[in-house]
Parts: sequence; C-alpha cells; structure tokens
Amino acid sequence: MIIVLKPNTAKAEIETISTLIKEKNLEPLVFEGIERTVIHVLGNIRDDTLIDAWQSRNSVEKVLRILKPYKLASNEHKSKKTVISVGDVTIGNGGFTVIAGPCAVENKAQVAEAARLLRGMGLRIMRASAFKPRTSPYAFQGLGQEGLEILKEVRDEFGIFVETEVMNVRDVELVAEYADIVRIGARNMANFDLLKEAGNISKPVILKRGMAATIKEFIMAAEYILYNGNQNVILCERGIRTFETAYRNTLDIAAVDILKRETHLPVIVDPSHSAGNRDLVPALSKAAIAVGADGLLVEMHPDPEKALSDGPQSLYPRQLEQLLVELRQIGAVVGKTL
Ligand code: PEP
Ligand code: MN
Repeated sequence: MIIVLKPNTAKAEIETISTLIKEKNLEPLVFEGIERTVIHVLGNIRDDTLIDAWQSRNSVEKVLRILKPYKLASNEHKSKKTVISVGDVTIGNGGFTVIAGPCAVENKAQVAEAARLLRGMGLRIMRASAFKPRTSPYAFQGLGQEGLEILKEVRDEFGIFVETEVMNVRDVELVAEYADIVRIGARNMANFDLLKEAGNISKPVILKRGMAATIKEFIMAAEYILYNGNQNVILCERGIRTFETAYRNTLDIAAVDILKRETHLPVIVDPSHSAGNRDLVPALSKAAIAVGADGLLVEMHPDPEKALSDGPQSLYPRQLEQLLVELRQIGAVVGKTL
C-alpha cells in the first residue's frame, strides 16, 4: 500500500501517520520526494477500514494498493524515472550512456591506456574489475585491493569515472570508497547478504541479472538494495543460459523492455558477456539502443590478444570507435543522445 501525501505536508503529520501505521503492526517507509512525500506501508493489511481511515485524512491525496511483489522497484511506487548521477554524467535521463573498458584490471599501464583511449572517444565511465569471479580457480583472479589502487590513480590522472565489481560482503565499503559505481555480478545476483550491504552505501550500484534468474527474481534482487536504503540502482541485462551454444549467453532483449515498463530504474545492456565473442557485440549493442536501453556496459581492451580475461569478447579500440558512430546514428532515430 502507498499513501501519497499532498504537497507540503508537515513533518508532524508524516510522523503521526507513521505512528498510526506502526500501531497496527505494519511498517511505514517514508520517501520524501521533491514534490511530495509517499509512505509505503509494508505488511499484511487485512482490514479495509484502515485504508478508509488513511484516505479520509486531510493530508492524504490518495491511497494506492501495490499488488506487485517488488514494492519499491515498481513504477507504481514512483512514476518518474530514476536518474543516476555520477559526477556530471547521468544514466537514465533519456540518453544512452556507454560504460566501456577491460574485463579486468591487469596492471597500471593497461588500465591507463584503456582510460586514454576511452577519453579520446568522449566516454566518461570506465569499467574494469579488480575482483574477478572466475569459473576456474586456476584462472586469473584479479588484483584485489591493488587493482582498486590502480583504478583510483588512473581515475584521477585521466578524469574518468570508474565502475568495478564487488564480490564479497566484507569488501563493499572498501570498493565503494574507490569506485564511482559498484557492480554486483551475475553470479552474485541472489547473494542476499551482499545485496543488503549494497543497500547501505550511497554509490550507485549496477546489478546484473543472474544467468538463470527470471525477470521477477531479478527485480526482487534490486528490491533488496532499495529496501535497505540505496535508491541508486541500475539494472543490467547480460544474457541468460539457454540451450543455444553458438554464443555464450542469450541476450534477453525482451527483458529490457519489460524492465523499463515494470520499474522506474535505468536499464543497461552488457553485450560482451552475452556474446562471448567480439563479432557479435556491435549487433547486440545496436539492438540494445533500439529497444530502449539506457546504456551499455561493454568490454574493450587496448590489446585483446594479451588480455588476462575475456579477450575473445573484448572489442578492439577501433571497433568501439566505429560502434559509437553507429550507435549515434541509431540514437538520432530513436531519440537517444550519446
Ligand atoms: C563482468 O561484467 O565483469 C562480469 C563478470 O560479468 P557477469 O557478472 O555478467 O558474468
Ligand atoms: Mn569479463
């Protein structure tokens, strides 16, 4: 249930309503917007006279029942789209934000070269993971905190924002200190302790869809972060496991449209981990902008043949440059600027 208050409702009245809600063993969650305040009422409301009582208060504009299991992510909670700000860059503001960079932080020179190339292409946010979730324990595991230090140095030297993964509850605060955007990867989408912890930070969180998660499970995972206090969540469709073996994962392009309609959160697409092969990345990226995504999370390596992870799916710098030209052309048609 949502109680929508009239504009400029006094704080004392908000407190009174909250107290009334608590007296009924329900939980009030107050969201103070710029224009108006809404109070979510969590819990099982069996008594319709309660709704009538709230509705009849002078300060209440309307009372809405939210039937969706995702109360806070739902567009019923907030009809205005969430816009994420990273410095002066916005995600979800009707444009198309390309976040690009290598799969992993390998060394300072590699990350610096990636940043230089991206800045040259006019891109403002670089991805690169210091902590790597690898299928094999024998594969490169990432540089950990040393990688975060490299990211910070390169961030400051090149004036580029950085996006990086957090894998573990105990590292959330640390990663949030270094990164402009914190990422929760597909393998951790249902790590509920990690989601709760991500709710306690103020940095934006990119939440990737689990490779076997339904759209509803994906939104419920975002709900954990929102419920725990962080409203800056970006959803990322990165492909799901299907029977198809011609590529790495099946990019669920329909999910992008559904997520955009069901929620108020920005939705971006990762064409790289969907494709598993760089030749497919441009087509998937163009599908993403055409279907209405708010941006991309795409892998580009200065020298993909030498990459320590995901080289085959990493774009060559000139390929990314060409892709940006084509995305701008499609953007002009679908009303998205990059
Ligand atoms: C990544 O983006 O670095 C990554 C590991 O992707 P995913 O979690 O989608 O597999
Ligand atoms: Mn990767």
